[in-house]
Amino acid sequence: MDNRKYPALVIDRKKFRENAEFICRKCYEKGVVVTGVIKGFNGFTELAEEYVAGGASCIASSRLEQLEDCRAAGIAVPLMMIRVPMLSEVDDVVRVADYSLNSELATLVALNEAAKEQEKTHRVILMTDLGDLREGWIDYDEFVKVAELVENEFDALELAGIGTNLGCYGSVIPTEEKMKQLAELAAAIETKIGRSLEIISGGATSSMLRIFEGDMPEKINMLRIGEAVLVGPLGDLRVAYGCEAVDEMNDDVCVLEAEVIEVKTKPSYPIGELGVDAFGNKGEYVDRGERRRALLAIGRADYVDVSKLIPVDEGFEPVGASGDHTILDITDAERQLQVGDIVQLKLTYSAILALSGSRNVKKYFI
Ligand SMILES: *Cc1c(COP(=O)(O)O)cnc(C)c1O
Repeated sequence: MDNRKYPALVIDRKKFRENAEFICRKCYEKGVVVTGVIKGFNGFTELAEEYVAGGASCIASSRLEQLEDCRAAGIAVPLMMIRVPMLSEVDDVVRVADYSLNSELATLVALNEAAKEQEKTHRVILMTDLGDLREGWIDYDEFVKVAELVENEFDALELAGIGTNLGCYGSVIPTEEKMKQLAELAAAIETKIGRSLEIISGGATSSMLRIFEGDMPEKINMLRIGEAVLVGPLGDLRVAYGCEAVDEMNDDVCVLEAEVIEVKTKPSYPIGELGVDAFGNKGEYVDRGERRRALLAIGRADYVDVSKLIPVDEGFEPVGASGDHTILDITDAERQLQVGDIVQLKLTYSAILALSGSRNVKKYFI
């Protein structure tokens, strides 16, 4: 705690590394390599390095700036751009990334031109939409045709493989059937082009379900993992899917430390006529009588959603927040707080995503 400035995001490299090692080991056992996705923590190169040390064979982000930082930091594995590129950034994609995920012919044409100009070969992974309805070709005949086109007509592009994304927009579960469908599409393309593909990328954290259940089709040989490595049991694998295997992982890689700026006993129901709160919402307040509360100097401007905070101390309960304040009910807690005390909060994915990019939050790597 010594000499820290608050609010502080304390990031434990060793715990991150342990999570990375666990994930990479579980995947390797099933013939799957791990692409380490770093967008969930603002691309901190310190953690990208730990990911590589833990076994990631590639580092990926949806933001080129983060990949550029990895390059500058000397990270030696290939880099992958995982948001389909904007037409306006294809030059930079080719300059910075070794691989990109793609879902539009026009973008592939532009990437090919950019790669030609830079006298490079850029490796592309074509995305198919298996029903989650975010990116990717959903017309599978067209998908196979584009793959053939890239293979035969685009001199500066290399068709590295295909991939899919599930559980992002449509909350579609990566079932064994979905993974088989991807494997079949890969086989169809391999038959057309007369060679095998380097990469068949079966999705993100949610696709680790198939690894743990032991029914991932053999053909799937890569996953792109971001959430699980950061939050382990606090993430979807445990919370939404009940997967117990992730309980072996650390849930406190990133801990928020916030300072108490007021401690008072107040009614729990507001006094006066009620309109809307700081964000224009009608609040819901339960009258629990007088409660002891601590006010923390951190708010929704930094972490967005107060329900994503998990106090380390038992009995502390976040009851609400505005842009720059968080209200903690401490009535039932053993630990009593005073002004100036520091409260530790564990975090789920979306809170880490927001906090790691917030200028108001100091970052400390331990
Ligand atoms: C964010 C993202 C991932 C990683 O997802 P997690 O759920 O954080 O593991 C993988 N692939 C793509 C295309 C993504 O955008």
